[in-house]
Amino acid sequence: MKIAIIAHDGKKAEMVQFLQEHKSILNNKSIDLVATGTTGTKAEKAGLKVHKYLSGPYGGDAQIAAGVAQGQIDMVLFFRDPLEKHPHEPDISMLMRLCDVHDVPLATNPATAELLMKGLH
Ligand code: PGA
Repeated sequence: MKIAIIAHDGKKAEMVQFLQEHKSILNNKSIDLVATGTTGTKAEKAGLKVHKYLSGPYGGDAQIAAGVAQGQIDMVLFFRDPLEKHPHEPDISMLMRLCDVHDVPLATNPATAELLMKGLH
């Protein structure tokens, strides 16, 4: 199972906390983590093994969206910051649209991600 993680700058601290809380599930051998660049670096520092794509504004969200379209990503945990503007808004919309097109579970906030983790458990 491949899980993509992405956190906007204003949500990175919450993502690190979330990853630490769910490390035992996410470190499971049957789970591969992928992430946008900076989020991935934070996840590595939190002790997780993760494949890093480009940073979000440079195309990382678009790379993850392509993975969703190709059936390679099974779940997306995307901690969005709704109070900030993002230069890569079109890529963000594309990612969310493709999750809906392909019926891939997408959590856009920590509370929903928490429920998805319970589902995995
Ligand atoms: P980042 O990208 O993890 O490289 O910061 C996240 C985003 O802004 O979509």
